[in-house]
Amino acid sequence: MADSTTGAGGPDSTVRIGLVLPDVMGTYGDNGNAVVLRQRLRRRGIAAQIVTITLDEPVPDSLDLYTIGGAEDYAQRLATRHLLRHPGLQRAVARGAPVLAICAAVQVLGQWYETAAGERVDGVGLLDLTTSPQPARSIGEVLAQPRLPGLTETLTGFENHRGGTVLGPQATALAAVLRGDGNRAGQGAEGVEGAVQGSVVATYLHGPCLARNPQLADLLLSRVVGELAPLKLPEVALLRQERLSAR
Ligand code: GLN
Repeated sequence: MADSTTGAGGPDSTVRIGLVLPDVMGTYGDNGNAVVLRQRLRRRGIAAQIVTITLDEPVPDSLDLYTIGGAEDYAQRLATRHLLRHPGLQRAVARGAPVLAICAAVQVLGQWYETAAGERVDGVGLLDLTTSPQPARSIGEVLAQPRLPGLTETLTGFENHRGGTVLGPQATALAAVLRGDGNRAGQGAEGVEGAVQGSVVATYLHGPCLARNPQLADLLLSRVVGELAPLKLPEVALLRQERLSAR
């Protein structure tokens, strides 16, 4: 919070949401995740603002939570270099600030990833996972059953990635795949989606993810402001219903 002396969600405090590197990371509307977080707070009367961090500035370690979106291979390399040079996000995670990482950001925050051109790039190391090119892109709608405690509702989103991700022992899967590929194609009933490690939640789901999965949005927010009042938004329920029934 901008003013932590007023308490979580207090009238004089503003929750500050870091939108990390939208100039290079943020395909398929992923920047909308920050907007969803902000609006779900504001509709409950909690002040919130988005702080946009571009390649022109270091990532501040003082924000309340962070979102970082997907990207093509070249753009995600620029982001990786920036995050390694200016380790504000790493410091924020060390103190437990929630981070939502989408698609390329899963890969960037991992140990290393190999681009479609075969170049291996060292990642930020916040997630114990590695990514290598798959024979074909994973493209399409995904449904996944969450494994992260606090989540009960089926996760919905769409994926579009060439990289296939393998989790190491420090990371746990966000969800079990019901439909689509998730982290890696060809895993059948063993397929998993996303990764969770410490305060970082990572997923291949675009959508934007938090517009389709409000329970995940509120889980991240509750880690900042504490328990949240219920928020009934019929249009969000309708969107979920449409996406969950889409075949
Ligand atoms: N460039 C990465 C891949 O293809 C991530 C793509 C994305 O973020 N949509 O695997």
